[in-house]
Amino acid sequence: MSACFASRNACPACGSSGFESLFARPYGEPRLRAALTDFYAQVGGLDYSVLLDAEYALARCDDCGLIYQVNIPNDVLLSRLYEEWISPALAFARFHRDLPPDRCFELAHEVKIVASLTGPAAPRLALDYGCGWGEWSRMTQAFGYEAWGTELSLSRRVHAEKSGIHVVPDAGLPDGSFGLINIDQVLEHVPSPRDTLGLLTAKLHPGGVLRVGVPNGLRVRRALRSFDRELKKPRLGRLNPVAPLEHLNCFTARPLLRLAGACGLRRVRPTWKVLLESFVFPPGIAAKLRTLLRPFYLRSGFATQLYFRRTEIRSGDTLPMGTFRP
Ligand SMILES: [Zn+2]
Repeated sequence: MSACFASRNACPACGSSGFESLFARPYGEPRLRAALTDFYAQVGGLDYSVLLDAEYALARCDDCGLIYQVNIPNDVLLSRLYEEWISPALAFARFHRDLPPDRCFELAHEVKIVASLTGPAAPRLALDYGCGWGEWSRMTQAFGYEAWGTELSLSRRVHAEKSGIHVVPDAGLPDGSFGLINIDQVLEHVPSPRDTLGLLTAKLHPGGVLRVGVPNGLRVRRALRSFDRELKKPRLGRLNPVAPLEHLNCFTARPLLRLAGACGLRRVRPTWKVLLESFVFPPGIAAKLRTLLRPFYLRSGFATQLYFRRTEIRSGDTLPMGTFRP
């Protein structure tokens, strides 16, 4: 085993040690090496020598059904991956410098949906866990929230702070204080999703709402049967939810709901009214179709973009005033 990797011997979501081995291939295997080299060349570039002794291995938990990478990069390698191999400057220039109007609209709609689910006493404090360049946080500011964030990447953190976002380490997050918490495209990257979601549950105000978004792994088992074909597709095709090095945990709705339940969260669904009130058709047939189906998806049993409240609170609750309520 490479010195840059650690092994996970139990499910990082439910803790069960029972698993089925789904797939294994050494990082040194030529087709995998070529695909990853090409993949990272587009976003920066990687030092492949540190991967050569390691194995890309996927397991599926017998208990909750989570698919997870057994061998995960250690903190040093993760830092290199997100600060060097994926160039922050390139990512910013390509995807974040000029936010297109339809993305702004999408962010506004997302904030509106999650805010619609909060209780009457929920504080107007919003946390984006892994806030990146601060786009979600800035939208919460536009909706009158005080924006907080956490972010490991220094360049993203500095950028977010310039927008007035209060970026702090995990230890700096006040307990039971946030009316909105967003963790989008983060839980699949962390070594222990159970610890991360447990932490966020503790930070959520009893009347607050937590929004979780992760890639949907519904099609992954099938994609593994044509691994080499998928590897050659843009962004690793249908293998993206188990992308080597990055997507360490691959959720479908079942393991995600089970993990949330174990952390003391219960699912709440946005109303049809909120989902449909800002409905517009974007240009392009594929985008139109996605937009049309999205409200059904968000309320469905297989969505992996979900909304939660803490279990001890009933809907329509009347809660004591939050410390930070304006
Ligand atoms: Zn499990």
